[in-house]
Amino acid sequence: MKVLVAEDTRSIRMIVGATVTEAGHQVVEACNGDEAIRLYKEMNDIDLILMDAEMPGIDGFEATRAIRDYSEDDWVPIVFLSAHNEDDYVQRALDTGADVYLQKPINSVQLLGQIRAMERIAAMKARLSEINHELQQVNSVLESMAKIDGLTQVSNRRSFDERIEIELARCKRNQSPLSIILCDIDCFKQYNDTYGHLAGDNCLKKVAKAIERNFGRATDLVARYGGEEFVVLLPDTPVEDAFKKAESMLTAVTDLKIPHRKSVAHDFVSISLGVACMYGEKDTSRTDLISKADEALYQAKENGRNQAQLGLIGIKGYE
Ligand code: GH3
Ligand code: MG
Ligand code: MG
Ligand code: MG
Repeated sequence: MKVLVAEDTRSIRMIVGATVTEAGHQVVEACNGDEAIRLYKEMNDIDLILMDAEMPGIDGFEATRAIRDYSEDDWVPIVFLSAHNEDDYVQRALDTGADVYLQKPINSVQLLGQIRAMERIAAMKARLSEINHELQQVNSVLESMAKIDGLTQVSNRRSFDERIEIELARCKRNQSPLSIILCDIDCFKQYNDTYGHLAGDNCLKKVAKAIERNFGRATDLVARYGGEEFVVLLPDTPVEDAFKKAESMLTAVTDLKIPHRKSVAHDFVSISLGVACMYGEKDTSRTDLISKADEALYQAKENGRNQAQLGLIGIKGYE
């Protein structure tokens, strides 16, 4: 342990220090309350404080209170050392934040006993903080797992549902464009039937990666919307830009060159896309936006698949 010995009388400081060293601990010396507070804050790794009650300037009571106030969330054991043994004196020390009260002249057996007891507490405290740290790490992993689709590793439907609410509100507040691209793999039932479900799963993973590679902005969100459907949410993106993105998604997927001999759309696995965009229209709901994209997607399927179609909301001149 690192033990801070705050004591103004040099001889007592040396005796106490020697006892601490003998017990196998490291000593940090302070000659007054002021220095004790400063060293405690500076070092940030003191495990135990032996605090003299009477010191010039800031005394042991004040120093104890200052240390307790400084580290509200943390706790360091403080052993008070004083020549007084009146009840009100002891009471005051304990009220101020001392944990143990030892009377001077210091009995080294008693001091060593207290140091050992505090050692056990310090070890427990260290273990607790380790466990706490591990828990925080596990929590953050769990938190991100809850947002990620297990198969494709893109965001899941839940995080899309959460994000679209936030982005819709922002879009209405700022009158900024919000685009969405719905994506559906072409003839995927045939793909599974032809190549097997496992190959289907692998194909889904590759398509997800290929889609994701098109989007670099921190605010863009690519999510698995359902079975073989994906959705891309593009805040602050006007319809022209979203459509360009959709076209690059089409190429990215066919460029994977995953053979699909039963597809009616292409020799390789392809996707169809429905793009929709809104510009902050007050009465447009999330369902309206998604429905527009869905209608456009249906149109893309009808027109032969492996293409993107546009569905617009409330934009004069486009409807
Ligand atoms: P279309 O071009 O009209 O979209 O035809 P489709 O065959 O893709 O459409 P449909 O909705 O009829 O079929 C979707 C298929 O996607 C059915 C289902 O077996 C498959 N599918 C959905 N989720 C998964 C999955 O997680 N893994 C695999 N391997 N297949 C999936
Ligand atoms: Mg003193
Ligand atoms: Mg589908
Ligand atoms: Mg499909």
